Amino acid sequence: MRGTPSMGKRSRIKVHIKCRRCGHHAYNVQKKRCAHCGYPAPRIREYSWAKSK
Ligand SMILES: [Zn+2]
Repeated sequence: MRGTPSMGKRSRIKVHIKCRRCGHHAYNVQKKRCAHCGYPAPRIREYSWAKSK
């Protein structure tokens, strides 16, 4: 096998679940924080390069 054999393990670990605030599948289970909106942080996570329609 060439390349990255360990890549197959990534899909077996649950990292993100559906966020209850923004609805995106970006809530990190281990960090307990949404990668999209920053939940449960009070302020919305916003960046200039991440423009919403
Ligand atoms: Zn979120």
